[in-house]
Amino acid sequence: MDDRLFRNAMGKFATGVTVITTNVNDTIHGMTANAFMSVSLNPKLVVISIGEKASMLEHIKQSGTFTVNILSAQQQELSMLFAGQLKEKREVQFSDLQGAPTIEGALAQISCEVASTYVEGDHTLFIGSVKDIQLEEGEPLLFFNGRYGSLAVETTMQA
Ligand code: FAD
Ligand code: NAD
Repeated sequence: MDDRLFRNAMGKFATGVTVITTNVNDTIHGMTANAFMSVSLNPKLVVISIGEKASMLEHIKQSGTFTVNILSAQQQELSMLFAGQLKEKREVQFSDLQGAPTIEGALAQISCEVASTYVEGDHTLFIGSVKDIQLEEGEPLLFFNGRYGSLAVETTMQA
């Protein structure tokens, strides 16, 4: 099957956008990712999927920890920076959640310890055991059809 067909199909699934951060030997690394999912409530687990070519793969293997930062609609430029889509390098000021590196202004900052690792095809799935959470108000950054977007109207539906 053609790669483009697969990516076009996956792109029909509208997602939020996260930046995964981790700290290795006092250096903080970030990477944009939309392959993120809630897995279990009891215990509290999430999953991220990291490509075999991403340097983040080795960083998480070394640190054994990662933070999922769910980006706000105002943070598209950060998404592009951490996806390697900006020409210039930028200095980023990270914040801290009980020692875990976080991105200020992200709607949710979820710090995790790696609970298990599964190599599947050309990606590695990291199951994260959630250690701490910080929430901020705001609207989410969205990704659909390979393009960024934001919510058109405020939703009033209750779960
Ligand atoms: P690098 O290439 O080392 O870093 C990525 C970029 O972040 C570089 O430009 C670097 O300068 C910058 N950066 C890193 N740390 C810092 C810092 N401390 N300060 C300032 N800048 C810094 N790939 C996946 O594997 N899984 C996914 O789920 C996924 N989802 C994506 C979703 C979207 C919407 C997009 C646009 C891309 C996604 N990608 C995903 C692709 C992934 O973001 C890129 O392939 C990325 O470039 C891989 O980064 P890397 O780990 O190799 O790190
Ligand atoms: P795109 O059209 O490549 O992405 C649409 C969808 O396809 C994504 O949301 C994702 O679900 C899927 N996808 C894309 N590349 C994938 C990969 N290598 N492995 C598994 N699933 C993948 O959108 P784009 O704007 O061209 O993406 C920008 C860059 O970011 C591309 O290089 C793309 O490969 C990469 N990306 C990677 C992943 C991932 O590895 N999970 C996810 C999104 C984007």
